[in-house]
Amino acid sequence: MTHPAQPKASHFINGAYVEDTAGTPIPVIYAATGEQIATVYAATPAIVEQALSTAKEAQKAWGKMTGTERGRILRRAADIMRERNHELSVLETYDTGKPLQETLVADATSGADALEYFGGLAGSLTGEHIPMGEDWVYTVREALGLCVGIGAWNYPTQIACWKGAPALACGNSMVFKPSETTPLCALKVAEILHEAGLPAGLYNVIQGMGEVGAALVTDPRVDKVSLTGSVPTGKKVYAAAAAGMKHVTMELGGKSPLIIFDDADVENAVGGAINGNFYSSGQVCSNGTRVFVQKGIKEKFLARLAERTGAAVLGDPQDEATSFGPMVTENQMNIVLGYIEKGKEEGARLICGGKRADMPGFFVEPTVFADVTDDMTIAREEIFGPVMSVLDFDTEEEVIARANDTEFGLSAGVFTNDFSRAHRVIGQLEAGSCFINSYNDAPVEAPFGGVKASGVGRENSKEAIKHFSQVKSVYVRMGDVEAAF
Ligand code: NDP
Repeated sequence: MTHPAQPKASHFINGAYVEDTAGTPIPVIYAATGEQIATVYAATPAIVEQALSTAKEAQKAWGKMTGTERGRILRRAADIMRERNHELSVLETYDTGKPLQETLVADATSGADALEYFGGLAGSLTGEHIPMGEDWVYTVREALGLCVGIGAWNYPTQIACWKGAPALACGNSMVFKPSETTPLCALKVAEILHEAGLPAGLYNVIQGMGEVGAALVTDPRVDKVSLTGSVPTGKKVYAAAAAGMKHVTMELGGKSPLIIFDDADVENAVGGAINGNFYSSGQVCSNGTRVFVQKGIKEKFLARLAERTGAAVLGDPQDEATSFGPMVTENQMNIVLGYIEKGKEEGARLICGGKRADMPGFFVEPTVFADVTDDMTIAREEIFGPVMSVLDFDTEEEVIARANDTEFGLSAGVFTNDFSRAHRVIGQLEAGSCFINSYNDAPVEAPFGGVKASGVGRENSKEAIKHFSQVKSVYVRMGDVEAAF
């Protein structure tokens, strides 16, 4: 019997599902059991061509519609996503293995927020009037044209919407390639957008591995590339886009610091560290995986952390009582287990977890290492799994320098009850998305993105509009033209 997660076809192009079984088959594996639940096929060159040509053509009329008309469609899509939240959350759980307890509140809902927010903004995207004496300049915010979105596997619905919603609001079209690991959810986003009235060809989804992504990025018809992925992939995609002078948004990896001063509320700090390390089984780019704890509260913090981490419920992700799911793939599980072994070998003190869970699927226990030093591998490299490194510190000055000593710069957090210190420290941290007495909140109203190797550009908020549109300026002369001859 066909599994309910099996999509109607692999791709969604020009307003309809499209299949081409000549492409490489991509098995979809449910991470909680290891069983194959669906198959899609990588896009052939013919599918890539169909998606790009249809998106290029459809954009012309869409770009001419009023923002209010475009926004109405996006807001209708947001409503449909909310109505179908349960069904979409179940699918997200099959696609990623993340527990339903999370997907019910963090995926289709976050996608719907983006559609609603950018749908609301679409009608108010205006230029400026700049007086120049009798003359004047006016500016127009224009669409870029054809945008490509490439997604990572941790938030397939959210990423498809975070890229699609601002792109469409600004009058662009999109071809979106999900990660080959999680190909299912973006197809639903496309289906819903079209059900809400999006004209055919404006939001297309095609499947495939890196080669398909590379074919999209290098196509001369493409005006912008927005990638969510790792730093090495980001460097490749950025370089390929630069060769064609294309616009980019790069949302890449991190190794973010979470700094806990000894005057912090311990319960809240532990909660922040749990949210910043174990949500989505640690597969979150902005995670605060280097937890710097001031020596005065170190043992108290570790004791409560171990106690609360012990309450994680590992199990069937489709059961709402489960609070901690598997790694997305067997490969990712093995990468994470490799880092845990490195942590042990290099002398970090294991507080809890530290191994594969004794159950089917790709589960790794939520793991905490203490006495981690800055040079250890687990403190330097992005693990993308449930492995928290706790490091000690004495002074504010010292911890700021150590927190910044990394190529990454996505997020940073500070827990303290001294508000002037909180702002002073945050002001000196090299990170794009920061938190005070909280961690990992990502509302659509707030800009999201990194500095240094963690990325270029911002998603969400009004900032995203700047990255999906360009400004035309027009000088208007009222009098005669003076010329030298
Ligand atoms: P990857 O970098 O491996 O892949 C990201 C996407 O790029 C995938 O769809 C991949 O296809 C595609 N891709 C790979 N090579 C190329 C290429 N040469 N040209 C075009 N596209 C290509 O990341 P993961 O999927 O493994 O996701 C995990 C990473 O994403 C982590 O490092 C994490 O930090 C980062 N991330 C960043 C976020 C942010 O907003 N800053 C949010 C979430 C994750 P395929 O995999 O199918 O081969």
